[in-house]
Amino acid sequence: MQGATASDPVGEMKYVVVTGGVLSGLGKGVTASSIGVLLKSAGLRVTAVKIDPYLNSDAGTMSPFEHGEVFVLDDGGEVDLDLGNYERFLDVCLTKENNITTGKVYDNVIQKERRGDYLGKTVQVIPHITNEIQEWIERVAHIPSDGNGKEPDACVIELGGTVGDIESAPFIEALRQFQFRVGEGNVCFVHVSLIPVMGPVGEQKTKPTQHTVKDLRGLGITPDMLVCRSKSPLVDETRQKVSAFCHVSPEAVVSAHDVSNIYQVPIMLDEQGVTKMLSERLDFKLPSNRPLLDEWSEMANHVDTLEDAEEVHIAVAGKYTDLSDSYLSVIKALQHASFKVNRKLVIDWIESSNLDDDAKKSEPEAHATAWKELKSADGVLVPGGFGIRGIEGKIKAAEYARMNGVPYLGVCLGLQVATIEFCRNVLGMEGANSTEFDENTEHPAIVFMPEISKTHMGGTMRLGTKPTPFLVDDCKMRRLYGGVSHVDERHRHRYEVNPELIESIEGNGLMYVGKDETGERCEIMELGEHPYYVGTQYHPEFKSRPNRPSPPFLGLLMAASGMEV
Ligand code: GLN
Repeated sequence: MQGATASDPVGEMKYVVVTGGVLSGLGKGVTASSIGVLLKSAGLRVTAVKIDPYLNSDAGTMSPFEHGEVFVLDDGGEVDLDLGNYERFLDVCLTKENNITTGKVYDNVIQKERRGDYLGKTVQVIPHITNEIQEWIERVAHIPSDGNGKEPDACVIELGGTVGDIESAPFIEALRQFQFRVGEGNVCFVHVSLIPVMGPVGEQKTKPTQHTVKDLRGLGITPDMLVCRSKSPLVDETRQKVSAFCHVSPEAVVSAHDVSNIYQVPIMLDEQGVTKMLSERLDFKLPSNRPLLDEWSEMANHVDTLEDAEEVHIAVAGKYTDLSDSYLSVIKALQHASFKVNRKLVIDWIESSNLDDDAKKSEPEAHATAWKELKSADGVLVPGGFGIRGIEGKIKAAEYARMNGVPYLGVCLGLQVATIEFCRNVLGMEGANSTEFDENTEHPAIVFMPEISKTHMGGTMRLGTKPTPFLVDDCKMRRLYGGVSHVDERHRHRYEVNPELIESIEGNGLMYVGKDETGERCEIMELGEHPYYVGTQYHPEFKSRPNRPSPPFLGLLMAASGMEV
């Protein structure tokens, strides 16, 4: 076995496996990302893998209502939103391979079987599926992800779902075998559980945790660390009890109580000795100085101070507004930008169908409330989306922002509705629309892109990072991006601005200041005579970072806070 050397402080690849019990939605993703931050603070290059035990090949065909937002990667992977958490926390760019699903694993094994790779053998869950999973993890762990081209030293693996689910069983079994494959000292198991509080004195209850750990141990995995989600810090008695019943030392029972903001989570874990325990379990040196953690701490404290700052209200006119996970990256990008302008961000969610004229008759109260909120906002954002519901309301929101000098950012569909609105109300094209919503419109402002499949829905959109050169020297968006000649942002769409209309739209003042490399496909929209009226065909939210807000979002927050862009 190869150990640490001066040039390679870590030696073999280190793995941290994060599983969860009791409930979904415990914050396993944030725990896993925070552990990644702690490893990174110790000088390790860190990557991450998310395992989703569902049968879909990827998240691309799943409704945001059901599964939260579809996160898009550089390589066009449409993946679980937890990969977004990893990218933001670890400042890495992952690949579609970093999201393993049951669908992908079985697909690979079945293809191998058809090729004859297992000739003569009966192909079974154990060993064929479990081997495939382990090989996949090892392969992906070595893919460079931090932009320096160097292989990572450590990989955080998060298993979706809760231990005991039928569909995650092959993955648990694979991870059980994995500890022997990579060897003692190279893997650490962290289990995230819940400590509910009951009764008049608020007693912390340990039974659910006892049971989930029992399940996990019954499957052959003994956790090295238990991260216990709770409202308030674990009291000593709880810690001792969990330790006694779960076969984990008291120090390894970690309290993950509610904190003021998620950036405090790595700090909270570090203060309880988590990084030290990881370094002992995984056999790497813990440096005495960890500037990265100091930076985190500073950022987390800065975010806390914004609680008392002046508010900035952004109205988001969307259609999945009941479920904030549906727009997770948009929320994050708005937050990141608010940190930079030192304002307290307030998002006013507006169900866009309440803004349209039909709602005035059918739901007058909801219509009035929606308009009141829109009119009191400092800025308007129309995010990406699919399907006709709520479209007319989004068009109204774009019109209102354009006519009243209210800062507006349109993302993907948001650029398309602003274009439709401009065609209708400035160019006089009555009924102008996208062929996505009205196939026979007399004025197709937005049209289906020629290269897109009409028969297959999975992975067939225009996806992933594509370069967008700026065509105009002096414009707000270029300034916001720091004067660069082109931007590399991520896409996910099937429709585009009708190339035949560009000349007349631009002739009337709505400019497409960035187009794709052919110079034909509109990518960045900007209205000259307006404090901030912009749109992007790409999704800038996916590349926003807490300390590096996405430029179009920063522009929106600046303009909404009264700063000149
Ligand atoms: N539905 C539009 C399209 O496919 C917009 C997509 C989006 O907003 N991501 O082009």
